[in-house]
This record gives sequence, C-alpha cells and structure tokens, in this order.
Amino acid sequence: MLEIKNLHAKIDDKEILRGINLTIKPGEVHAIMGPNGSGKSTLSSVLAGSEVFEVSEGSATFYGKDLLEMPAEDRAREGLFYSFQYPVEIPGVSMVNFMRTAVNEHRKYNNEKPYSASEFLKLMREKKKLVEIDSNLTNRSVNEGFSGGEKKKNEIFQMAMLQPKISILDETDSGLDIDALRIVANGVNKLKSEDNATVVITHYQRLLDYIVPDYVHVLYKGRIVMSAGKELALELEEKGYDWIKKQFED
Ligand code: ADP
Ligand code: MG
Ligand code: MG
Repeated sequence: MLEIKNLHAKIDDKEILRGINLTIKPGEVHAIMGPNGSGKSTLSSVLAGSEVFEVSEGSATFYGKDLLEMPAEDRAREGLFYSFQYPVEIPGVSMVNFMRTAVNEHRKYNNEKPYSASEFLKLMREKKKLVEIDSNLTNRSVNEGFSGGEKKKNEIFQMAMLQPKISILDETDSGLDIDALRIVANGVNKLKSEDNATVVITHYQRLLDYIVPDYVHVLYKGRIVMSAGKELALELEEKGYDWIKKQFED
C-alpha cells in the first residue's frame, strides 16, 4: 500500500528526515514512537503533502503511484488521511457543510456520484453513531472553540466519513482524558478493516493499550532505528528513550 524508501527531507538546509524506510500493507496498524523532535510530525507532513519541507532524496509510493509528485489534495482523494497534531479551526464553516464538500470532492475524484442531501445525512448519522460524536459538535463551525479532546474526536469522525485507505494519526492522544481516549481508540478500531491501514504516532504507550499495533517503530534523529512488535512499546514505557539515544548517538 505505502512504500517509503530512503526518504530524506529538509527545511532551511537542516536535514530532518535522514533516510526513512517503511512498508505498510492493508490491514496493518503501525505505531511510530520516539523522543520529541525526532521527525515524527515531519514524516507525516511530508507524506500528507506539506510544502514546508523539501524532499531531497528517496521515494514514497502509494498503491504504486508516486505520492511525492501529487498535490496534497490528491493524496487525500487517493485515500490518505492525516490528522494534524494541532488541528486548524475554520470559523464560519459548519462541520456538516465542510464534510459534505469533502466527501463529495473525494467521490468526484474517484468517479463516484456525489451524495444527495438525504444520502449524505444518512451517512453522517451512521458515522456519528459509530464514533460517538454528538450533534452539538457536528452543527458547530469546524473545530471552532473545540476542546483538545473534542478536536480529536472530530478528527476520528472526519476519518469515518472519508473512509481513507491509510490514516496517519499524529498524537491523537495528546490532551485526551481517559474517557475521550477510549472513545477515540474505539472509533479507530471500529474503522479498521482488511483494506485499510493505520499509522499511530504517539509518545506514550497508553494509547497502544487500546489501539494494538502490529508493528512499533522508533524514530530517532530522522531515522527509524528500531522496529518490533507491540512489546517494544511496553519496553519503551518502562525504560524510556535514553538507551536508544545512547545506542544511536551519531
Ligand atoms: P516530532 O514530531 O518527532 O516531535 P518534528 O517532526 O515536529 O518532531 O520536528 C523534528 C525537527 O524538525 C525538530 O528539530 C523541529 O524543530 C524541526 N522542525 C519541524 N518543523 C519545522 C519548521 N517548520 N521550521 C524549522 N524547523 C522545524
Ligand atoms: Mg513533538
Ligand atoms: Mg510531533
């Protein structure tokens, strides 16, 4: 599904990604962990199509298509979903209208008929129920005045509506209390299928009690320095990152 080879990216001549290799197949859940400033958000931004970073080497293909050549909006329409670490607020645009436009844009791109108003409302009702988000949020402007937890729930709702092939969730757990965490994780788990994949970026093992990864990768100084099964997350929780820093100091 997603194949990343020797990916390098920089900003202002500062190299932040220094040779990332990662292969993701449908049905898989990958966790990316690592100390602050390792490049986790940079990796997701580069994949989502941020133009802030310059890719200087390497490749990323999505179902065989060159992802790095595509504009960000086409990447989304091809089925890549990126939840920002810091979601933007869009005052004056209701969630309902925002989602209707987004969903129909995606359908158009994929040669599917746009949803009628009633089809769309039906889909929305279904997905709202699935991710346990209430109308109080979906009737408001996108993220405007939402608490941290509400923004994250809202992202999972957007993910449910767009039905992406791969979702990259960047610190979806930050700012969540334990109940919100469970709701978000349940949503992610319910949306999981044999046809889609999830990449969970997190500092903490806690989220991975709920969203159980098939693989855990440690990103450090712009490289994946370690990959293993879910037990690696527990080991990191217990031992911290110092042993990794020592081992992989330049
Ligand atoms: P992480 O998500 O793992 O905490 P980031 O990808 O956010 O790490 O950051 C990796 C490195 O890139 C950090 O040193 C950070 O300061 C730098 N960086 C990220 N974004 C920018 C930017 N817009 N301008 C300059 N440096 C940046
Ligand atoms: Mg960070
Ligand atoms: Mg980050």
